[in-house]
Amino acid sequence: MTPITSFAGKSVAVFGLGGSGLVTAEALVTGGATVVAWDDNPDSVAKANAAGIPTGDLKALDFAGVDALVLSPGVPLTHPVPHWTVELARAASVEIIGDIELFCRERRAIAPDAPFIAITGTNGKSTTTALIAHLFRTDGWDVQLGGNIGTAILSLDPPDSGRIQIVECSSFQIDLAPTIDPTVGVLLNLTEDHLDRHDTMARYAAIKARLVNGAGTAVVGIDDEWCATIASDLDQRGTPVERISVRRPVANGYYADRGHVFEVEDATAREVVDLKGIGSLRGRHNAQNAAAAIAAARIIGISEPVILEGLKSFPGLAHRMEEVARIGKVLFVNDSKATNADAAEKALSSFDRIYWIAGGKAKTGGITSLEPYFPKIARAYLIGAAAEEFAATLAGKVDTVMAGTMDAAVAAAARDAAADGASEPVVLLSPACASYDQYRNFEIRGDHFRGLVQALASAEPVVEVK
Ligand code: ADP
Repeated sequence: MTPITSFAGKSVAVFGLGGSGLVTAEALVTGGATVVAWDDNPDSVAKANAAGIPTGDLKALDFAGVDALVLSPGVPLTHPVPHWTVELARAASVEIIGDIELFCRERRAIAPDAPFIAITGTNGKSTTTALIAHLFRTDGWDVQLGGNIGTAILSLDPPDSGRIQIVECSSFQIDLAPTIDPTVGVLLNLTEDHLDRHDTMARYAAIKARLVNGAGTAVVGIDDEWCATIASDLDQRGTPVERISVRRPVANGYYADRGHVFEVEDATAREVVDLKGIGSLRGRHNAQNAAAAIAAARIIGISEPVILEGLKSFPGLAHRMEEVARIGKVLFVNDSKATNADAAEKALSSFDRIYWIAGGKAKTGGITSLEPYFPKIARAYLIGAAAEEFAATLAGKVDTVMAGTMDAAVAAAARDAAADGASEPVVLLSPACASYDQYRNFEIRGDHFRGLVQALASAEPVVEVK
């Protein structure tokens, strides 16, 4: 844990006692703050009490005597409407911050030179964060990996010059971190997302920009207009920027072309790595993630041979184009995280001969945007509530099987793919749908797929990928 000493002797209200909120309250108490914590969920309050954290309804608290309100990132700060705790704090001119801000202040106080990499973007955050952590582990560092990726930042070991903190940040977390100042800040990309919470794209972009504006060195993907503008603004501010592109060569920075990643210095390009053959980094989107990770690792000082070794041994993240098994020449890929057509597009563009398992609870627009990829689909196996709608979209273009369930889909797809003459047919779960009609979440859906494939694999001679 990282005890927060910068609030020792001060009074802090904490709202939101889920995983990270509870740890935050503990870190403040351990550091010597006087804490009153609260949550609308009585179970969370009971958990906090059991952990020795003082609790109390913040409606009854006199905010005039409070030094800070610490919010969980899920609690609305501005939109759709500010949470009632936000109104109370604002009325009393109390600052409102989150756990990442507490971490940044603690780092500045106890170990300002401790390396700290923060990663954000609309897509690819977790993959890039995990990859950067893997590169540093490969180089033998004491890696503290956390933030939005799952481990609360304040549950990590405290910053220290001998270790590195690698932290994924959502826009909600950055919104609560006004002085975020990573050694290296990575901004991958920006597309429309979370506008219910940030109102306009301009506000959303401004929040994301904060992470690189405060960085010692920025790494910015410049393939969208928002990020390209942010990179130019950083030039104006005098912040060093490494630009990343997977669309066109850059004058300085890194760009990727069909899996080859180049480092460019003063318009001279040199190939760093060919990602072909690295199953966990397939696709142009992953080239962006890999190039950003390479840039971050180089800035801190990892040598190129170690980076290469790390890229090649990166296991990838579960449910994101995860290679589950190879049975004969058929590759089975779990991309359950693809809950919309945009995400499924990444997977469909990464393989050539596809036995596609899709369906679930459809998003607006369904799969009509995926039509350019239909010629690669040998057959589609439709499951869940979206099956009829998807069948109508595919009619006359792709052979479909109304499988209904994952069990039926995996069995049929495995059988058909095994009979395919192609060199590497792929059975791909990339549903382009939410999972809620049949599963509690996409992880459980992906686990189900993996379990079925592993059962098939254990019945056959198999080459395990992992
Ligand atoms: P995040 O943490 O930002 O949600 P993940 O790394 O978990 O991102 O990847 C989630 C999905 O987003 C992937 O399965 C893939 O479809 C897509 N994706 C990953 N990286 C990128 C990228 N750089 N650009 C666009 N889409 C991406």
